[in-house]
Amino acid sequence: MTDYDLIVIGAGAVGENVADYAHKRGLHVAIVESELVGGECSYWACMPSKALLRSGHVLAAARRVDGSAQAVTGSLDATAVLQRRNRFTSDWNDAGQVSWLEGAGIDLLRGHAVIAGERVVSVDGVEHHARAAVAVATGSLPMLPDIPGLADSAPWGTREATSAQSVPDSLLIVGGGVAACELATAWASLGSTVTLVARHSLLGGVEPFAGEMVADSLRELGVDVRLGVTPTRVGRTDGTVTTQLDDGTTVQTAEILVATGRLPRTADLGLEHVGIEPGDWLHVDDTMLVAGTDWLYGVGDVNHRALLTHQGKYQARAAGEAIAARYLGTPLHDGLWGAHVATADHAAVPQVTFTDPEVASVGLTEQEARDRGMTVRAVEYPLGSVAGAALQADGYTGRAKAIVDEDRRVLVGVTFVGQDVSEMLHAATIAVVGEVPIDRLWHAVPAYPTMNEIWLRLLETYGRATD
Ligand SMILES: Cc1cc2nc3c(=O)[nH]c(=O)nc-3n(C[C@H](O)[C@H](O)[C@H](O)COP(=O)(O)OP(=O)(O)OC[C@H]3O[C@@H](n4cnc5c(N)ncnc54)[C@H](O)[C@@H]3O)c2cc1C
Repeated sequence: MTDYDLIVIGAGAVGENVADYAHKRGLHVAIVESELVGGECSYWACMPSKALLRSGHVLAAARRVDGSAQAVTGSLDATAVLQRRNRFTSDWNDAGQVSWLEGAGIDLLRGHAVIAGERVVSVDGVEHHARAAVAVATGSLPMLPDIPGLADSAPWGTREATSAQSVPDSLLIVGGGVAACELATAWASLGSTVTLVARHSLLGGVEPFAGEMVADSLRELGVDVRLGVTPTRVGRTDGTVTTQLDDGTTVQTAEILVATGRLPRTADLGLEHVGIEPGDWLHVDDTMLVAGTDWLYGVGDVNHRALLTHQGKYQARAAGEAIAARYLGTPLHDGLWGAHVATADHAAVPQVTFTDPEVASVGLTEQEARDRGMTVRAVEYPLGSVAGAALQADGYTGRAKAIVDEDRRVLVGVTFVGQDVSEMLHAATIAVVGEVPIDRLWHAVPAYPTMNEIWLRLLETYGRATD
């Protein structure tokens, strides 16, 4: 048995950050990984999906500006796009991230980790003891709905859809969330004939107009978007997937991608050895400490607070610092917005959906703010009416919405939909997290002519500043 101060299970982006922050405080840290160091984001999620999308976005942007539009007459070179995506995943080789761990002074234990008891982690049968804590950062897995024939039809999950080495002639996507919409955009732009079926509207969880605009744009891209529909039976014969839908129609495609949500990756972790139900999300406090324990932490996707890499890394900083503070006996700052808590998880999670148009949002939707009992005022403005946006693309279509808590006169949520809005999101995040008073926001002057002048338009729509 080797002793460490901290053992982190899972070397995705989140686990790496927990390990790094604790190590920088002087803790002796090991990290366990059963697959690739770097996890889902590096190899089968954020990076490859954004690499698949980027070339299509650039081409569409060039086509929307008179002058450059005349210069781009061809379609995407799908082979080159796939090769560029391969480079972003280092051809699914984690040597670069392993050497980062080595340089950081963190021990890598390759193998499958099981929690064998309190502060004891068994890696492929070899036990290790953690003096301070064990942090679980094992992420999440795609959910496979119980549809007759689906499991036997070799469906794609998000891993297959982000790592495929050729473009399928046709693709049925089941699901209407972020991954489904992004991958529909990517594969349609690469030349696949895409059908997307979703039980509800697209992009639940953000302002409804965002999902509507994305549905319209997917249709313009040639995607057959069918809402309010679910598959009832799936079968694969001779390379063709036949899917029956509950509206009585049948779709035949080369591949089927299921993107209907995620499950916690906790079923085979040995949690039952420490009295925790396996297969469930880990319930944690704001320092990421698992309920009912003083040594087990759950960080990133596995705690289901926000299934996003950046938010998981933010939690990882809080957890790594809190583990070190508790172990070393230094002050613990666990009040609201303290150094050892992930307060923003509750109020200011930024998220970008890299469709075309992009959807960038932070904080609460109007409905969420009302559900929390706030006195809400919502302000909307068409982004295309801003000079900077009109310059960005001829006929720019986009929309912005800001949610104001009228009692405190601060922003609690902002949504932008439009081309290139992702890079505008962080200003909104700062305004929401900083609880910047509306009257002070008038003094944050956006440069002319940039798309950020949307801030001025939103303020003017909200009303004059008070004296
Ligand atoms: C298609 C897609 C696109 C996405 N795009 C974005 C995006 O653009 N931006 C964004 O912020 N988020 C995005 N996400 C979400 C993001 O990928 C996740 O939030 C993030 O990967 C979670 O990181 P994590 O470290 O918690 O888990 P993971 O990255 O899943 O890492 C967990 C690690 O733990 C290892 N592991 C699991 N069990 C064990 C065990 N018992 N023993 C040893 N090792 C184990 C796994 O092998 C894995 O390497 C996307 C997700 C998908 C599916």
